[in-house]
Parts: sequence; structure tokens; C-alpha cells
Amino acid sequence: MNTDQFRQFGKAAVDYIADYFDSIKNRPVFHSVHPGYLQELIPAEPPRRGDLWKDVLQDVDRVIMPGITHWHSPNFHAYFSAANSFPAIVGEMMGAGFTSIGINWMASPAYTELEVAMMNWLGKLLHLPEHFLNCSDGPGGGVIQAYKTYFQGSASETTLLCLLAAKEKKVRDLKALNPDLNDTEIKTKLVAYSSDQSNSSVERAGLLGSVPMRLIPADEDGKFPANKLLEAMRKDRAQGLIPCYVVACLGTTPTCAFDDLTELGPICNQENVWLHVDAAYAGAAFSCPEYRYLMEGVEYADSFNFSPHKWMLVNFDCSAMWVRNARFLTDAFQVDRIYLKSKQLTSIPEYRHWRIPLGGKFRALKLWFVLRIYGVEGIQNYIRHQVALAKYFEQLVVDDSRFELCCSNMGLVCFQLRGDNELTEILFEKIIENRNIFVLSGYFNGKYVIRFSICSQLTERCDIDNAWQEIVSQAKFVLRHHGG
Ligand code: PLP
Repeated sequence: MNTDQFRQFGKAAVDYIADYFDSIKNRPVFHSVHPGYLQELIPAEPPRRGDLWKDVLQDVDRVIMPGITHWHSPNFHAYFSAANSFPAIVGEMMGAGFTSIGINWMASPAYTELEVAMMNWLGKLLHLPEHFLNCSDGPGGGVIQAYKTYFQGSASETTLLCLLAAKEKKVRDLKALNPDLNDTEIKTKLVAYSSDQSNSSVERAGLLGSVPMRLIPADEDGKFPANKLLEAMRKDRAQGLIPCYVVACLGTTPTCAFDDLTELGPICNQENVWLHVDAAYAGAAFSCPEYRYLMEGVEYADSFNFSPHKWMLVNFDCSAMWVRNARFLTDAFQVDRIYLKSKQLTSIPEYRHWRIPLGGKFRALKLWFVLRIYGVEGIQNYIRHQVALAKYFEQLVVDDSRFELCCSNMGLVCFQLRGDNELTEILFEKIIENRNIFVLSGYFNGKYVIRFSICSQLTERCDIDNAWQEIVSQAKFVLRHHGG
């Protein structure tokens, strides 16, 4: 394909995406396919001679679109929002256009340097403690490497990487006290902790990192109880085990509950245990001053993560991570080869030592586009608007005596039909069967709840009204036939 053909193909693709967004409101939010559908639509072998781009683009409609769940439909209220915006799409496209691989600074200086700058912008936007920022002095006198922040692909990668760093740190700390200990002896005794409301990726980090993850039952508000954490640590220590890693969550996946860092933080610091804060979804809200009280105590954390790809208008993947002391990552995971060496840098990080893949994507570019084109106020307005829509939905629930509001935080509202859990289970099944809106279900304090999340940028009050009408009409049916 030459550049003239690329211009035509690229412009047609941009038109396709723009048309997609213009028509998304009229598309059913759910896909319309059965498992294996796509294998019936495409040949088993690749084409011997290349196809025309026009034919390929047409096949997007025929083969791909039927199997897309429309996460940006105003009727999509499942999971958490998956951010997207036109500036981010263009940033992603330009990053793909350049496709340099950010192996090290030399391999493409703009990759590293824009990442450093964007992490500072983001950290300041959220008002994270100064010691997390790239532009602050390094931790401790002897540390040259002052850089502490960078992008990962996802929140899950971050949780795993910090667990691995925490393991190495603990081994180092204990061997400094007792040089006769060996690594394996220590590592087999390490234990990690989180609440049972943390994301599945937290439990998975324990499995991948070979550290048992104790999932401590949350309290009635869905929060990680600090006294139970202390109890669990003491019990483990009494059995000769070694606490090494705690994951607290600001905005849990089931109910968007906020763990109290002012209670968990001092315990972790006293016990010399790495505290990782997972704010994957709700972290974006800290761009608004009125929500920052929810991250009080963040200064105790060793690492902090939030994902602009969830609630800050940057498409997947773009997850931001800050660590208190980068040396625990860079020392633990540093492997060099002659082909990777670049000029000794003292003021610029070599991000390959900070992550699992060798190469790095140009994620900072799409973030730069979003932050510049929306500005701080644009981001704040977006978050506030989404929270206001959730509040509007919450009020509809509260005003209807057939329903009970179970919890409501940020863009997420959980509610149930009054009565046995079974009624809400049937209601949920009916809503999903009817396919007009996409919601999820879950449990909150033993109650089966419907989990309604404000996700799409295109959702407005009229869409909330429509969603509520759909819920109420299904609820009437359920109460009529199953209400006793
Ligand atoms: N942490 C929380 C609180 C989440 O809600 C999620 C996903 O929804 C994750 C982590 C995992 O995010 P990712 O898909 O970026 O790995």
C-alpha cells in the first residue's frame, strides 16, 4: 500500500469511526452473535493475493460489527466505563504511525520524555503527594534515580509488578538484618493481603507472583477493615510467615467503596509491608478537589495506580503508576545486554527496567492529546457530569418504594427490588434477556443487587430516564408474576 492509498483508506476509516459514533445511539447495545460465529464468516486460510482495502473495510460491517458489544452506547451500564475520546483515538493512531519502540531513551527520546512530562501532569492533576512525582527530589540521599512514575498497559500489570517488587524488597530487608538467610527460605514464607472486594486481578497477582493472597472479608460498607488486617498479619507472623504486601482499593469493582488509607497506611508502615493503592477506576475523580478527601492517607502508600483508560477519556491501554522509591523496581528487574546500552542517563529514566515488556508503546501521546484538548476543566466537567447522572439515577431509585438503594459511589449505583434476593435475580435476567440496556449484578452485604454504572460519554439524562423505564417495566412484570 502506498501513501496515496493510505490517505484514502485512513480517511475512510476515520469516517467509519465518526459514523459509528453518530449512529451508536440507534444500535442495540448487545452483540447479536453466537460463540464461533466469526469462524463461519471468514475463510480458514489467509488470502493468497492481497484484498482491496475497500473490500476489507466493507467486511468490518459484515464480520466485526455484529460481534461488537457497544461499550460507548448510552445504554451501556455494565462494568466500569472504558474511556474513549476523539483526541485519544487520534493520539493512538499517530503513535501507531510512528511505531518506534521505546526500548530505551536512545531508541526514541520523545517516548521517554513525554512519558515523564505526562506523569508529572497527571500526578499534579490528582494532587498526589510531591514525593511520587518525577519532578521531585529522589527518595533518600544516595539515590540518583529520582524517577518514580510511568505507564503500564493495565492496572493488573501494576498490581503484579508491585507485588514482585515488594517480594524483592522484603528479601533485601531481611537479609540486611540476617545475611545467613537465603532467598528461597524467605520467599516461601511471604504473604499478601487485600479485601475480598478487591478486583480479581489482585488475587491473580498473588497466583502469578507465587505469594498467597489473603482476601479479608470487607466490612458492611465494602471497606477493608484495618483491625482485621492487623489481626491476620499477627496470626501469620505467629506461624512463622512474613507479611510483605497489601493492596488497598480506592473504588472497589463491586461497589466503588473506598478503603481508609489513614487506617491501613500506618499499619503497613509500622509492619514494614508494601502498601499498593489500586484506584484504577475512581482515581480519575481526584482531579476534582471535592473528592480528594477520599484519598487521605495516600502519603503512606509505596505505590499508587489509576487508569486513564477507565474514566479519564484515554482509550485502552493507559494505566498510570507511581512508586515511592523507583530503586525497588529498577534494582530488582534490571537485566542488560550490549544492544540495550545507551548513554548513561542520570536525569532520565530507562523505563524498560520498570516494566515486564522490553519495548514500550507511545501511550503518553494520546494522554497528551487528551489533557491538552480537554484541559483540567474539561476533565473535571466530564467527571462531575457523570457523577451527576449517577446521582440522578440514584434519586429515581430512592423515589420508588418498590426499590431499595444499596450503595451509590461516583458513577456507580447498586440497588435491588425490595423482598427476597430471588426477585432481583429474576429482574436482572429479564433486563438482560430484553437486551435494551446492559447492566451487571452483584452482591452487597448478602443482598443480590443490580449494578448500574454510568459508562458512556454519550449518556445523558434522557438515556437514564429510558433505562429507568426499562427497569421499572421489567420490575412490574416480575412483581406481577413472582411477587407473591
Ligand atoms: N482494579 C480495579 C478496582 C478495577 O475495577 C479493575 C477493572 O475493572 C482492575 C483493577 C483491572 O483493570 P485492568 O483491566 O486495567 O487490568
